[in-house]
Amino acid sequence: MMGKVLILLLVEIKKSGEKFSTELVGKTKAEKKSNLEKYTAERWGVSDDKIDIGNADPKAMAECFSKIDGVITDHPELADRLANGGIFVASASDMRMMTGSSDSVAFSDGNGVAFNQKFWGAERERVDPNGFHVQNSVQSDTATHEMAHILERDLARKMGMSPQEEAQAMRTQQLSRQMVNDALVSTSSTDAEIIRGVKNSSPRERRGWSDSDAISFFNNASSEQQNAMRTVSISRYASAKPSETFAEAFTDVRVNGNNANSLSQAIMQEYRRLAGGLMLNIPQFIDKGYDSFDESSQIFNAVPLADAPNWVHEEYGELKKTLSKDNNAGVRAF
Ligand SMILES: [Zn+2]
Repeated sequence: MMGKVLILLLVEIKKSGEKFSTELVGKTKAEKKSNLEKYTAERWGVSDDKIDIGNADPKAMAECFSKIDGVITDHPELADRLANGGIFVASASDMRMMTGSSDSVAFSDGNGVAFNQKFWGAERERVDPNGFHVQNSVQSDTATHEMAHILERDLARKMGMSPQEEAQAMRTQQLSRQMVNDALVSTSSTDAEIIRGVKNSSPRERRGWSDSDAISFFNNASSEQQNAMRTVSISRYASAKPSETFAEAFTDVRVNGNNANSLSQAIMQEYRRLAGGLMLNIPQFIDKGYDSFDESSQIFNAVPLADAPNWVHEEYGELKKTLSKDNNAGVRAF
C-alpha cells in the first residue's frame, strides 16, 4: 500500500515538473489535433470536450497552449476556470458576436479562451506585436494576455466575491482599475520608459521627437496626461482600458521578467498584494479620462463621457483612427 502511494506520488511529481511538450504526436492533422487536445486536457485536469482547436493549425495552438501551461504552472487555480469556460477556436463571425470585431485575435470573458480561426489557421494572418503589444512579445503571447483576464476574474473570487459580483467586477473593471491606479501612484517611470511612452502615444508625429523634447513634454504635462503616457509605454493596447493595461502588464512581466516596464512590475505587485488578501476594502474610483469609457464597451464602440477632459477626446480620436486605419496587423484589438 505504502509503495503504491509512493509510486503514484512520484508519478504525480514527475508529471507536474515536466515541461509542456509542443512536439506534435500523430501522422495526420486530425490525429495531431486530437492528441494535442487530449494531452492538454489531461495535463490541466480539464474534460477533453472543453478543449477544441477546430480547424486551427495544431502547431500554432501548441505554442499557445505552452504559454497557457506556463501561466497554469504559476497559477494552478486557473485550471478550474478553463474547466468551466473551455478553450475553443471560433470563426471570425462568432468572434464578432463575442467582441464586436471579427479582427479580434482572441477573447476571454475571464473563464475560457476563444481564439479567432482567422489568425490561427495554417495560412493564418500574422500579427506583428511591435509597439501595439509589449516589447519582445510574439503572436502566441496572445494566449498569455488572455490568461491575464482569467487571472483578473479569479482575483475577484480570491477576494471573496460571489459569481455575480465577479461578473460585475469584470464589467466595471473594478479590480484592474484599482491595481493600475495604485501602481501609477506607487511607482515612477524611468527616463527610457517616459520617452517610449511619449513617442508611443498620439499623435503619431511624436515618434519623430528627440529624447530630450519627449522628456520636457512629459514634464510639462498634467498628471493625468503623464499617467496616460506611462501606461502607453507598456504598449499601445495597454492604454485601451484598465483590464487591457492589466493584461498587457501581466504579459510584459512574463515575457521580459525583470526587464519589464516598471509600471508593469508595479501592477503585478498590486496584484500580489490583493491576491494575498492584504486589501480589506475596495475604494470606489471616480471615472475619468480613459476610464470613462462606456463600461459595456468594446474598444471600437467605446466613447468617452461627454464631460471628459479635452485630451481624452483627442486621444480617443487618435486611438480610434490608429485602430481602424493602420493596416499593420499589429494594431488589431483583442
Ligand atoms: Zn484583452
